[in-house]
Amino acid sequence: MTNLERDPQETDCGGQPAPTAAFDVIAGRKVYFGPRSTVIRWLPDRARRMVGAWCFADHFGPDEIGDGPGMQVAPHPHTGLQTVSWLFEGEVLHRDSIGSAAIARPGAVNVMTAGRGIAHSELSAPEHSPVLHGLQLWVALPHEHRFIDPAFTSERDLPRISLPDAEATLFLGEYAGQASPAPYYSPLVGLSVVLNESARTPLPLRPEWEYALICVDGDARLDGADLEPGTLTYLGEGRTTGALTSVGGARVVVLGGEPFDERIVMWWNFIGRDHDEIVAFREAWEADRGFGDAVPDSGDRLPAPPMPALRLKPRGRGPETQ
Ligand code: MN
Repeated sequence: MTNLERDPQETDCGGQPAPTAAFDVIAGRKVYFGPRSTVIRWLPDRARRMVGAWCFADHFGPDEIGDGPGMQVAPHPHTGLQTVSWLFEGEVLHRDSIGSAAIARPGAVNVMTAGRGIAHSELSAPEHSPVLHGLQLWVALPHEHRFIDPAFTSERDLPRISLPDAEATLFLGEYAGQASPAPYYSPLVGLSVVLNESARTPLPLRPEWEYALICVDGDARLDGADLEPGTLTYLGEGRTTGALTSVGGARVVVLGGEPFDERIVMWWNFIGRDHDEIVAFREAWEADRGFGDAVPDSGDRLPAPPMPALRLKPRGRGPETQ
């Protein structure tokens, strides 16, 4: 950016910080998610592909599913990533190809480490709550861990962090000297914050990490700038704190971590490092090879879509690293 004025005047900006800092707001795009629902996908965005190792962020609901089947995601594979399910309402039944079966519920986190390969289904049970609302997040595994054995854990005993006028739950990574019991493989944080009415909450941040804030619902501001509900606001690096405020209360999710320096290829449900590796993952899934046992009681496995005509390019985390 540069100032294009021909005759710039000296301006007195006073001693107060600007009330609305210019943050990078990602509204997300609607993505088809079965015949009866859509999700909002914030990451990857064209300009902002990752926040730390967080490389995928979907918001589903709140959806009224009382008279329908709810979530019905048939068995499909993953490689090179972790899936992180964080619910605000309802429940989702997870089953996978290493024998896990667990129900995701509000307050507990389900973390599936795909490593070299796993398949799973995500289904609402026949008897389910009337409303489903949550986040589905992925974390890219760094090179030295991306072929580890697949694993799954459901953790409900998560660190609670008291902040002024707010209560937070650490569902993944590290924050304020505490660590989530779920496994993670690069320095990162996933923190779910409930702001009280009239909250003025300083949020300690690490300057060497980058962060994004998701306002799930309610009214919230960061350093005076509105966080629109249903959007993801990228804060970048270099901050030691952010002042969260709310009038009527809000739910905000903080995602952050050490900037992820590797270039990756994300295609369908796979993360790899180049086109040929993705082709190999796809062929293995189509041949039903290397993704464990059949996922029980989950219907037919999802076929992989055809590869795009062009070769997939490894990409960096943001516009500066395309
Ligand atoms: Mn999945």
